[in-house]
Amino acid sequence: MTALGTHNLWRPYTQMKTAAPPLEAVATRGSRITLADGRELIDGIASWWTAVHGYNHPHIAAAMADQLARMPHVMFGGLTHAPAERLGQRLAALLPGELNHVFFTDSGSVAVEVALKMAVQLWLNRGETGRTRVLAFRGGYHGDTMGAMSACDPEEGMHRRFGAYLPTQLFADLPRGPEQEAALDALLARHRHELAAVIVETLVQGAGGMLTHPPEVLATVARLARRHGLPLIADEIFTGFARTGSLFACEQAGVVPDILCLSKALTGGTMSLAATVATTEIFSAFWSDDPSAALMHGPTFMANPLACAAANASLDLFETEPRLDQAAAIAARLRDGLAPLARLAGVREVRVLGAIGAVQFTVTPDLADLKRRFVARGVWVRPFGDIVYLTPALTIASGDLDRLIEAVAAVVTETAGG
Ligand SMILES: *Cc1c(COP(=O)(O)O)cnc(C)c1O
Repeated sequence: MTALGTHNLWRPYTQMKTAAPPLEAVATRGSRITLADGRELIDGIASWWTAVHGYNHPHIAAAMADQLARMPHVMFGGLTHAPAERLGQRLAALLPGELNHVFFTDSGSVAVEVALKMAVQLWLNRGETGRTRVLAFRGGYHGDTMGAMSACDPEEGMHRRFGAYLPTQLFADLPRGPEQEAALDALLARHRHELAAVIVETLVQGAGGMLTHPPEVLATVARLARRHGLPLIADEIFTGFARTGSLFACEQAGVVPDILCLSKALTGGTMSLAATVATTEIFSAFWSDDPSAALMHGPTFMANPLACAAANASLDLFETEPRLDQAAAIAARLRDGLAPLARLAGVREVRVLGAIGAVQFTVTPDLADLKRRFVARGVWVRPFGDIVYLTPALTIASGDLDRLIEAVAAVVTETAGG
């Protein structure tokens, strides 16, 4: 076969011609990934921070096996089932305020698409046309589908090139101080007539570089959105399910968004599932005798029973095991272990929020080289842009967390010391 002919599978965000070939994983357990050649890696990022309970948790596995034997899938049009009904009720009970109306989809990006569609259709249903844009924040990431991508940071290379195809959204800086607050206020006042919603990642802009902001900044965003009569969409796809130290990040700011998106850790890292949750006020704009006022969306695998069973089992674990305490303990360890790196000449900043630790370099390092060095040290850590980060399973053994922090400290010191 030619070199080209062997590349049967497209890889995510990868220039396949120059990238190192992927490592073959054959098994996972707890915070460990076993490779085909027998090596075992300690996972520092929990498969894009989905596997909050560690891999192969027996409670989730048992619930899925049971559901698999009973009914792995059935369509959701005209039918319903206990796993979805139960999950919807539990999410509504856990989420703050009147976030009671749950729309299930298959991935985070699609949950954002549904949130955007809800916001746009909300105004149509209220008889207001022309409100088709959203205000989003610089540094944000909301997914890879076209609508979600249009709300991502406008300067970020991967998305900029699709500009001609994307809807043009409005962008602002997060209101970290009085000047940015005044600017955001003015921007919203000027554009409210054409805006459908404001969308924000709560407390941390993940894929944009693990950029954290204090709860007051989120509270300011919520207050300004309300002042201008705009629904607030909270993208909690990264931050939901204890990653930032509270079950949902918006709780720390006392903010109840109008629409909230969940995915990543929803099934404890086992199945692809997402939820877009709306308040009763939003839902009521779709509740009508007019068929065309219904929300116009319906994925084939909507509310997949197997995924819902996994998510219910994951929620059981949040009730029966001390995930918030574990997140707090990880936060303390990350702070102690990573903070000294801030003194290195080549380190711009160290940021820790909940069970997220990030080290930002002053210049973008050779990422391929860094990735190789982490694997050589027996850890799975995937730097991107100018950051190295850890988002381990909340159940990670303390010895494994030590080894991750040691590996990050060593590789960052080799790269940014001197
Ligand atoms: C990962 C992520 C998404 C997209 O989710 P996918 O499941 O990859 O489509 C959207 N928003 C945020 C904040 C994310 O972290």
